[in-house]
Amino acid sequence: MATTKKVTHVEGGSASTPSQQPRWTPTAEAKSAAGKNRMYAVILWVLAVVAEIAAMVILSKKDPEVALTTGQNVLIISILFVDLILLVAGSSFWKNANRLDPPSKASAMFAVQSQAGVIMAAVCFVPVLIQAIIKKAWFVVAAAAIFGVGGGAASADYKPASQEEYAQQSSYVTELMGSNHVYWTKSGTKYHLYDDCQYLKSDRTTEIFEGGTVADAYANNSKIKPEMNSLCSACEKRAAKEKGWTDQQLQEAKDKAIEAAKNGAAVLEGALPAEEPQPEPAPQE
Ligand SMILES: [Zn+2]
Repeated sequence: MATTKKVTHVEGGSASTPSQQPRWTPTAEAKSAAGKNRMYAVILWVLAVVAEIAAMVILSKKDPEVALTTGQNVLIISILFVDLILLVAGSSFWKNANRLDPPSKASAMFAVQSQAGVIMAAVCFVPVLIQAIIKKAWFVVAAAAIFGVGGGAASADYKPASQEEYAQQSSYVTELMGSNHVYWTKSGTKYHLYDDCQYLKSDRTTEIFEGGTVADAYANNSKIKPEMNSLCSACEKRAAKEKGWTDQQLQEAKDKAIEAAKNGAAVLEGALPAEEPQPEPAPQE
């Protein structure tokens, strides 16, 4: 007659296995599109390096004491210009891929993945620059330096996307609207919570309004910077008003979304963690 006590097995109690769950994950389509963009980037970058090598082969035949003819200068600089175009085109695909499938800021490779285009700019122009200096081909030195710096500047991602950023904003939108659904236009720099927002309608009436998740907005409009204030402030205020929130409550909801994203909230399900008491709202930059 002994009562068998029901043993409740508690999973995941081990402290040695910290949660490695991604905080935000792209959809299968986004991941596949990112893969294609990365492939195009690599192909274009390889071709850029081939162009650089071609320029270096021509330059290798130069006698350092004999100046290049105008024709030779034009030829080498033209090849380096092709190198530049291929580099920047490749970097553009790479940046697109990062918006579709961003790296995590927690990753040691975050900077490398976000700024791979800058690294490629160095690969595409530093070797030929050094060779041109050794060979005293001064016009080529000038061209390689300008193209290298310009190519690096064009290849840099000044506002790189991150999984954390997407998670925060997805959580915040869900907190405000109950679902992760936003609207944007092709040329706008903000995403909106309401499809009848005055800013969405004003002077963009000919455009098709698109709807989707926050991540979809970033994937489809490269003009929207991945940062919190890319959310239209008029829509944000309207959502707060509809909820009857004060500015203080709105700020708390924002802080909560940022905190939830840090804690790996399941943003894909549109669910925020249960109303657990927050010890203190961590000050955010
Ligand atoms: Zn709006």
